[in-house]
Amino acid sequence: MRDFPTVVGVLGAGQLARMLAQAGQKSGLKFIFLDPAEDACAAEFGEHIQAAWDDEAALQDLGQRCDVVTFDFENVPEASATLIESLCPVFPPPLALFTSQDRLREKTLMNDLGIPVAPFKAVSSRPELIAAVESLGFPCVLKTRRFGYDGKGQAVLRFQEDLERAWQTLGDQELICEGFVSFAAECSIIAARGRDGATKFWPVSRNLHRDGVLAISMAPAFDEELQARAEAIIRLILDELDYVGVLALELFLKDGGLLVNEFAPRVHNSGHWSIDGAATSQFENHLRAICGQPLGSTASTYRSLMFNLLGKMPATVEPVDDANIHWHDYRKAAREGRKIGHVTVTAETQGELEARAAQLASQLGVAAELNLANILRPINDR
Ligand code: AMP
Repeated sequence: MRDFPTVVGVLGAGQLARMLAQAGQKSGLKFIFLDPAEDACAAEFGEHIQAAWDDEAALQDLGQRCDVVTFDFENVPEASATLIESLCPVFPPPLALFTSQDRLREKTLMNDLGIPVAPFKAVSSRPELIAAVESLGFPCVLKTRRFGYDGKGQAVLRFQEDLERAWQTLGDQELICEGFVSFAAECSIIAARGRDGATKFWPVSRNLHRDGVLAISMAPAFDEELQARAEAIIRLILDELDYVGVLALELFLKDGGLLVNEFAPRVHNSGHWSIDGAATSQFENHLRAICGQPLGSTASTYRSLMFNLLGKMPATVEPVDDANIHWHDYRKAAREGRKIGHVTVTAETQGELEARAAQLASQLGVAAELNLANILRPINDR
């Protein structure tokens, strides 16, 4: 390997890989993506090996030609990550990937580290589901252990009759049943840890989901005390996994306490604001971390609010005439519900942020649906 990696491989070539490559181009990094999709949106920023996730020849080719390999989604098969790791360094460590692929493993790790999570039970049969619901009580949430994302593969159980319906839909897989958390807010903390163990944290963002999909993230969202608590929790996970790269941790705020929902061993949608609102973006620091370079400052330079753009880019994307509105178009084909871009509003003060965000939300036609006041209001849960 050269002193500093110059060729970065990425398993996955979606928008996260695209934004990684955009960040890496500044420092002359070259990218090779492996992704089965024909129209992978990162492809224009590097070489695209179009192959299945378990195509051994393609994985070998990638591992041999890269100085370091990373991934832009969690469901990379374990055997594929292991094969590449035999050829070149893979960061974040595959152990983090495997842990995040299974909600039971993930929650068990949290328990082992003494990190609060919603109460949970493993479910692999109808009697186990009945026992889990008896123990957790209504409402509770039944989720697939693997391959769930953006609220898919889960059902909220409120009444006895919901059990059978949920079992019919999800019962052919390994499941986990969790107590329902009536949270005051959903938040996430994102951190970067270098090869030398140095760690930096971005300000926590407050997140709003619609139908299980992230709609808005606002940062900074926490006061110093809650920020410090979130940092202490993610640090436990980073150190336990001897982590290298960016890690995102989704949190519920309830009764003044923080509960972990799940973690993502990669750059995360709730950190996109950092491109325009922080000294160093999550994408740049992920690359610095995996390439063994010093991390940049994660301080916020502005107050930021990011809207995800789903389906198709709005007409308001042109002209870009406001220095505080930052449009990001992933150049993906329009499709109902698909994440095709995001827009971040930045401001010096919370008042300016609120005014600009409200104006943008009404231009985007989402003002009523998103009830911005809800997310902009200071968190008052203690
Ligand atoms: P997940 O796929 O686990 O990230 O869940 C998607 C969304 O479902 C979360 O962002 C929450 O809004 C909601 N959710 C997940 N688990 C729970 C829970 N145990 N209690 C309440 N809401 C939940």
